[in-house]
Amino acid sequence: MALSHIKIVDIFERTDLVGSEVNVKGWVRTRRGNKHVQFVALNDGSSIKSLQIVIDLERFDEEQLKPITTGASLNVKGTLVASQGKGQTVEVQATEIEVYGTADPESYPLQKKGHTLEFLREKAHLRMRTNTFGAVFRIRHNLAFAVHKFFNDKGFFYLNTPLITSSDAEGAGEMFQVTTLNVKIPPRTEKGSIDYSKDFFGKRTSLTVSGQLEGELGATSLGLIYTFGPTFRAEHSNTPRHLAEFWMIEPEMAFYEIEDNMDLAEEFIKYCVQYALDHCRDDIEFLNKMYDNSLIERLEGVLKDSFVRLTYTEGIAILEQAKKKFEFPVKWGVDLQSEHERYLVEQHFKRPVILTDYPKDIKAFYMKQNDDGKTVRAMDVLFPQIGEIIGGSQREEDYDKLMARIEELKIPMKDMWWYLETRKFGTVPHSGFGLGFERLVLFVTGMANIRDVIAFPRTVGNAEF
Ligand code: ATP
Ligand code: MN
Repeated sequence: MALSHIKIVDIFERTDLVGSEVNVKGWVRTRRGNKHVQFVALNDGSSIKSLQIVIDLERFDEEQLKPITTGASLNVKGTLVASQGKGQTVEVQATEIEVYGTADPESYPLQKKGHTLEFLREKAHLRMRTNTFGAVFRIRHNLAFAVHKFFNDKGFFYLNTPLITSSDAEGAGEMFQVTTLNVKIPPRTEKGSIDYSKDFFGKRTSLTVSGQLEGELGATSLGLIYTFGPTFRAEHSNTPRHLAEFWMIEPEMAFYEIEDNMDLAEEFIKYCVQYALDHCRDDIEFLNKMYDNSLIERLEGVLKDSFVRLTYTEGIAILEQAKKKFEFPVKWGVDLQSEHERYLVEQHFKRPVILTDYPKDIKAFYMKQNDDGKTVRAMDVLFPQIGEIIGGSQREEDYDKLMARIEELKIPMKDMWWYLETRKFGTVPHSGFGLGFERLVLFVTGMANIRDVIAFPRTVGNAEF
């Protein structure tokens, strides 16, 4: 059965409804007018556009209209007519108005317009009712949908890897421990350390920092897989690009070498950006107008050219010759900071960059070792405004080389025997990467802080909502 009411986003498409009775529901954004007629901008979250409700004061009495203030929720019946005013094509001439819930102007936090993003972060339970956050979260949804569509259309299988893990070998970041032990008086072994054999899983466990290692098990069985799920890192780095809980997309592909991996990463990001431009035009135009006048230009920019591909060693040479003074000095062997990444992308090449063949000592143990003995087949995709948006590599498929590296780094592998078996039984060349979903949403929305592109951000010291 169809809904009795119609979504506001659909109203603007339905020219056939002009002249007929409609029923719309939503929240009041603004109310203005005079003694004869009042105008209410009604928004139901389906679109950046609000619908104008025209209230003729001959039909309604003042008392009845009093509770219609910013934030109140309404059920409106009326006639859809072509609008005489500027700024909208159609409007509703109200015949019946029911107030579902009032929003006391004295205490409703969004009563006034023009709040700062910082203020709205403290009102995360309500901020999705603003135009800005409505736009951001509609775009976020469309990007998530685009991710699934892209991989599904290419024949990848969506694999759900565990969120609770007993391996701490990934080394991607500090982990959050998961336990049911009594933290005040935990059971002790004879030697006095905490006895995790008494814990829920019979061993020490944490929230995952990446689904990659399990993803590799999928790829070496199903061929092409991707994960898309939450990831947890106890990041103390208080930056506008790091969250403690974020969503990551991790494709993993059997028989893909590093070049195939780069091709896929580039095609994937361009697909997502194009999808957002095609499906979220109004929201992107709104953000372009309100926050960042070069947003659309930047989005179209990344679609235009192919990404520059160069090695870490070449990248370092460029940075060493740069006139710019960096906060963190550069020399071969250092991990790049976002100031370096952004210099390469924004100043030097003016295009996204894929940097490859990093020193092995700053990358994870599983990356395929190059013949030079110094570098590995890593690839980071670097973006304007963001810096690193993707980190990936071809994986080391040779059992002996992988073991040598594990021993060299003294990585605790006793819980990782299952990972090593991929290299013992039918090992194949394979590759994959991880895209931080919020970094993609940051890029597409032009927002400056990652806390503004996830509904309920978790960062150090903050898990309020
Ligand atoms: P960075 O150097 O930016 O801290 P990383 O090298 O630790 O990132 P990877 O382990 O390569 O990150 O993770 C893959 C991708 O996940 C990154 O390219 C990035 O897009 C995203 N990512 C990593 N850490 C975070 C985080 N704390 N919050 C949000 N996204 C993240
Ligand atoms: Mn990385």
